[in-house]
Amino acid sequence: MKKYDVIIIGGGHNGLVCASYLAKRKYKILILEKNSEVGGLANCANFANSFSKKIISDLNIDIPQLNQNSYIVSLNPDTNHTIIEESQNGIIFHNSSATKENQEKFKILLNKYKKFSSSLSQFMNQTPPRIKSGVFQDTLKLMKMGWNVRKLGKKNMREFLRVIGLNIADELEDNLSDDILRGILSHEAVLGTNLGPRSPGSVLTLLYKQAINNGLVFDSEKYNINDYISSLEKICIDSGVEIRKNISVNKIKIIENRVSGVELDNNEIINANIIVSNADPKKTYLELLGPEPLDTDFIRRTKNFRSKGNVAKLTLLLNEKPIVNNIDKEKSNARYIFAPNINYVEKSFNASKYNNFSENLCFEFHILDKQLKLNLYYIPYIKNSTHDKEKIIQQCQNILKKFIGNLNITNAELLTPNDISNKYNVSGGHWNHGEFEIDQMLMMRPFYGSAQYQTPIKNLYLCSAGTHPGGGITGINGQNAAKKIIEDLR
Ligand SMILES: Cc1cc2nc3c(=O)[nH]c(=O)nc-3n(C[C@H](O)[C@H](O)[C@H](O)COP(=O)(O)OP(=O)(O)OC[C@H]3O[C@@H](n4cnc5c(N)ncnc54)[C@H](O)[C@@H]3O)c2cc1C
Repeated sequence: MKKYDVIIIGGGHNGLVCASYLAKRKYKILILEKNSEVGGLANCANFANSFSKKIISDLNIDIPQLNQNSYIVSLNPDTNHTIIEESQNGIIFHNSSATKENQEKFKILLNKYKKFSSSLSQFMNQTPPRIKSGVFQDTLKLMKMGWNVRKLGKKNMREFLRVIGLNIADELEDNLSDDILRGILSHEAVLGTNLGPRSPGSVLTLLYKQAINNGLVFDSEKYNINDYISSLEKICIDSGVEIRKNISVNKIKIIENRVSGVELDNNEIINANIIVSNADPKKTYLELLGPEPLDTDFIRRTKNFRSKGNVAKLTLLLNEKPIVNNIDKEKSNARYIFAPNINYVEKSFNASKYNNFSENLCFEFHILDKQLKLNLYYIPYIKNSTHDKEKIIQQCQNILKKFIGNLNITNAELLTPNDISNKYNVSGGHWNHGEFEIDQMLMMRPFYGSAQYQTPIKNLYLCSAGTHPGGGITGINGQNAAKKIIEDLR
């Protein structure tokens, strides 16, 4: 029987990154992917836009950035859209219905957040410390975290500690009077989460995003997602990683609390010393491992891990390239956001709490030739039920028609979170493999006892978006998990 050093369950981008780092150490690695192609949920994204620069350099990933100037357009019902460009030098307003005073306040607010997020950024590329472990390294990491916040200075530290528990709506209402500017920041704060702008902690999600994105709020750099996934796959193959597709892992096998291998859906058993799961934490523990080797409290924590998805993917095929009213051709290669004000977004969120979707659809989209690719927010995953897809498409179309004169749809494909869950094998079809709130972040992600990429089972590791620092196409989870494994093997 063939024996591998490491088996990675799932060929999502984090699984591929994890394998690439481990392969540098010459381990014999096998990736088992259930689908016919690797990439997992990243195949849902329009672009890879938040991928870690460090990983690109570490792994020598050679993909061209698609555009130097990338615009964010916040659609305004009166068609006087706000057009923004963000870089490390700050925000540039190319057009906006907001007053100059509001534009300045917007920049000041983002600079404040940038400063706060810098105190978190150092921890994104690290294994989070274990609370109460008594280990010196963990205590040191916790102290460094505290020191980073303290380094902000007394005034900033107090402000940082005040805002992290706040909801973004209160912050925006205190600082800005323009609806569109408030809407666009609410949107960025709640993107991919089950939070509304008035939910506590929605400032923290924004800071966290900036911490991952080198201080930037808007993911404006773009890489082609297919180029990115295929270069990761090539790096794996070139470094000797074996990838088997259309293979589903049914069970993780253990002997005396240590992994011994995996059992596939065709009953084949493959042995390995280490198993890394790129599947989400709930699936890993409750389905692949099963509850028997886990203690009751751990199972309770796994079951309580919130992973109800609420982003749907809509792809519209049009008979010609869409033209957005009042946007110059030169700026049309943009990320378009429709979140016109805080109350609109909150109303949309409210419906999702009751497993419904609202008439107030919030979305972002990109134009790719004759296609419109939209992420629709607050379309909740519903257990044993389904949404009226035609109604969602129709509502979306009604809104889009106000902005796109030549919207002639020839085909529409909607993937609800239920469809995403089935197609990409993710519990709840959740964008981040699990909710992104303060109690499921940092050393609490996915939950206590499993937050250092390790698990209660010896040599079983996690590397998916369900771990620190959360979801998005960053590759950081895969990188951190690989580093942890290498450290443990030492
Ligand atoms: C609609 C949508 C749009 C998004 N858009 C963006 C975006 O624009 N930008 C961004 O940064 N992020 C976006 N995201 C989020 C991002 O795609 C994910 O957070 C990220 O791709 C997760 O990567 P992962 O490798 O951790 O997990 P996954 O991509 O989920 O990979 C896990 C892999 O494991 C496989 N697997 C699971 N169980 C088994 C098994 N038993 N046997 C074998 N294989 C198994 C799955 O098939 C899958 O390939 C979006 C998410 C969604 C849902």
